[in-house]
Amino acid sequence: MDLSTVQIPVERVAHSKRSEVDFNHLPFGKVVTDHMFICTFRDGSWQDPRVVPYQPISLDPSAKVFHYGQTIFEGMKAYKDTEGKVWLFRPEDNQRRLNISAKRLAIPEVPKEIFMEGLKTLLKTDQDWIPTAPGSSLYIRPFVFASGKGFHASPADEYTFIIACSPSGPYFSGKVSVRIEETYSRAADGGVGFAKAGGNYAGQFYPTQLAMADGFQQVVWTDDHHHEFIEEAGAMNIFVRIGNTLLTSPTSDRILDGVTRKSILQLAEDEGIPTEVRKIRVRELVEASQNGTLKELFGAGTAAVVSPISSFGYQGKRYELPDLENSYASQFRKRITDIQYNRAKDPFGWRFPV
Ligand code: PMP
Repeated sequence: MDLSTVQIPVERVAHSKRSEVDFNHLPFGKVVTDHMFICTFRDGSWQDPRVVPYQPISLDPSAKVFHYGQTIFEGMKAYKDTEGKVWLFRPEDNQRRLNISAKRLAIPEVPKEIFMEGLKTLLKTDQDWIPTAPGSSLYIRPFVFASGKGFHASPADEYTFIIACSPSGPYFSGKVSVRIEETYSRAADGGVGFAKAGGNYAGQFYPTQLAMADGFQQVVWTDDHHHEFIEEAGAMNIFVRIGNTLLTSPTSDRILDGVTRKSILQLAEDEGIPTEVRKIRVRELVEASQNGTLKELFGAGTAAVVSPISSFGYQGKRYELPDLENSYASQFRKRITDIQYNRAKDPFGWRFPV
């Protein structure tokens, strides 16, 4: 296949499901659009890229994704501006990160042309599904999994790449309270924490259920050595504001290199906000909370955008965050969403037309 001129055939649905959807009350990630993009890796190459009606897929029970969790994904969004133009936010960063994940999971990399052309063709096909109600967007889920057969614990010989889309409202409703994890770990040195590998998320569900049972919405993961330093949350990188300084952990092989995180760091630099990218001790958070210098804690991610945290739990105690007007979180949320929805200039070249 000549990748420089990828032509993606489109098979359209006979009847759209769009009129059945209430676009003013969208949940997150539950409604799917009419179509999906699909492509198969077989005999050593990616083949047969196409857009087809969204549909179930049939897999052999020995498909390796079921047994060895050989699967990776991405999370992105498409936004529609007031003139009906469609935009992505830094999509090439997601494309690159998918292949960083692929390499670590011994999955064949998806050529950039297939990813970008597949995505654009799908978005053009389903453009009427991109919601315009405030706070809503089209969540995009590219994923690759081992569809090849066999119980031998080794990489599969066949893979499937799908892009599916979900018109979605906000990820969280209201403020978030988090528990700082003291027992479980999400990732370890030399492991797969930096990859968007399915198993990273499966492993979080149980500790998150325990935290939820105690009245929290999310876990903030700590380092796997002594649970001394905060790392990231379920599907968000974490930022801390102590005094006027913005802090976030450095990325590592345990932390996902978030697109929103690095965008916030660039905005902070642009706005002259003092910033430190360094390891953050849990003890430092507790002390700053006790002496009144802890001003903000917020999560940052594609799904959650910028989500203020209202309190954190640690060693059985709850620490409340102040309710600030004009917080860093609200400033960053506004600047990022203004760029995403084409409401403001984009000095960084992040917006990408579809
Ligand atoms: N950390 C984890 C573990 C995530 O799953 C995500 C969501 N992709 C993030 C951080 C935030 O990354 P991004 O800003 O690229 O969505």
